[in-house]
Amino acid sequence: MTQNPNIPFLDLVAPHRELEAELVEVFRTALTRGAFIGGPMVEEFENEFARFCETSHCVGVSSGTDALRFALIAAGVGPDQIVITVPHTFIATTEAISQAGAWPDFVDVDPRTCNLDVEKLREYLQTRCWADKARGKTIHRQTGRVVSAVVPVHLYGQTADMDAICELAEAHRLIVVEDACQAHGARYFSNRTKEWRTAGSMGRAAAFSFYPGKNLGACGEAGAVTTQDPEIARRVRVLREHGQAEKYYHDIEGYNGRLDAIQAGILRIKLRHLEDWNRQRRAHALAYNSRLASVAGLTVPFEPSWSRAVYHLYVVRTPHREALRRFLSEAGIGTGIHYPIPLHLQKAYAHRGFRAGDFPMAEGLASKILSLPMYPQLRPEQIERVVDAVQKCMQECLQECGQQVLVGV
Ligand SMILES: *Cc1c(COP(=O)(O)O)cnc(C)c1O
Repeated sequence: MTQNPNIPFLDLVAPHRELEAELVEVFRTALTRGAFIGGPMVEEFENEFARFCETSHCVGVSSGTDALRFALIAAGVGPDQIVITVPHTFIATTEAISQAGAWPDFVDVDPRTCNLDVEKLREYLQTRCWADKARGKTIHRQTGRVVSAVVPVHLYGQTADMDAICELAEAHRLIVVEDACQAHGARYFSNRTKEWRTAGSMGRAAAFSFYPGKNLGACGEAGAVTTQDPEIARRVRVLREHGQAEKYYHDIEGYNGRLDAIQAGILRIKLRHLEDWNRQRRAHALAYNSRLASVAGLTVPFEPSWSRAVYHLYVVRTPHREALRRFLSEAGIGTGIHYPIPLHLQKAYAHRGFRAGDFPMAEGLASKILSLPMYPQLRPEQIERVVDAVQKCMQECLQECGQQVLVGV
């Protein structure tokens, strides 16, 4: 076993060991300065991350959930409005919508990309809403509520189809707030502007999480809002700091949602490695693809020509998910399921009256997806071992149930 140790799903030790001396220095600097919240380290990180995302503003906050909530409020989402998102995402997306006072509603995902299905969004806006021309608003027929925003989630590190989403949003007067919490550095080729755009620069505002396991992770909780709009940036700064623009002068009630100086300092150091780390993740995905794409009964991630994904997660699909997960676990290989229950079927939303069958693509994915080990420090021989185990397991499944395995992937 010593020459064949386990392969974890995620390795949070290796990247920090490599950078230990620099990271410890950040802590020492903060101790010396006595500056723990806000201050120059935060501002330096904000400037550098804005540059990385090709936006004019970045505001550091205390988590991705806060980033989403503040971005929605600052962009103008208000109480009792409807905000559209997908059921196939982490619950923070809808928590932030609810915490902004709005109602999350769902549009199903495209099973190939696992991201928002643009045709379903069009259908929702055309059949379930009407245009109140006098007020310049889109109204949800059934509830009479204003539909004010859409939150595309760039899931697993791949952007949603932003041209089509932004076009629909403009036609129906919706605010677009990107959930870029899994997509630091992901790129999208915009046919509208004929250029590659970076995740976080395409909506009115975007939210990033620096939770430790993300492509850019802090050593604790952290997040950021990016935007091209100086007024949104100003509002987020006020919201994160108890509604004050000047100390103890509170124009509104805000939140305690600031970014720690130590986390910002750590993020600055790690940001220098993010392009490299993303490149390594893409290379690992390519290596997985080259050997898994032809495995019967298994579907590998799909990357449209307009996408340069950063593979926060590498997610395969198989109707034999449980068997594969067990097999890999017994082989000492860690996996994850992102996510096992679509949001509309979570207990937290039972009061909303959604039913099984409402969003069939999200439901189908939830039972078939499996996330394989993915992190920059993954070694070629580890990828080989994962691939060998997946191939072996799928062969066994195939033998057990004949051609049945090929159906319904
Ligand atoms: C991680 C994540 C969030 C929330 O980020 P936190 O920093 O944990 O609050 C939101 N949306 C998605 C899609 C995420 O993956």
